Amino acid sequence: MDDNCLFCKIIKGEIPSTKVYEDEKTYAFRDINPEAPVHVLVVPKKHISDLMHVEAEDKEYTCAMFNAIKEVAKAENIEESGFRIISNNGENAGQSVEHLHIHVVGGKKLGTNVV
Ligand code: AMP
Repeated sequence: MDDNCLFCKIIKGEIPSTKVYEDEKTYAFRDINPEAPVHVLVVPKKHISDLMHVEAEDKEYTCAMFNAIKEVAKAENIEESGFRIISNNGENAGQSVEHLHIHVVGGKKLGTNVV
């Protein structure tokens, strides 16, 4: 954990969030500025700044994140209608919080453009 990281503080409960799913390795909570009816962030409970800092030893976290995405989709009733996952990495992608996170968005028909 990084004492100065917003998402580490959320995981520790120091900053409030609306939990959607949690397990030993991951935490999922509603985005404070949703861009779709369902907009949930899935984060590892280990401070990993972005995808380029994922190490082989982190595979339990990365596997758990994909499982968490499935659990979020089920909890939000979008597993049948479909959803999109996005992970912004680095400046050009507009990453604003330096703690690896996957956006899970859905609940409406999404555009087909990737960018
Ligand atoms: P990104 O821009 O890909 O780094 O995504 C960061 C996301 O974190 C943005 O969509 C923000 O709306 C979201 N965010 C920032 N602060 C909070 C917070 N306190 N609780 C929930 N979501 C947040």
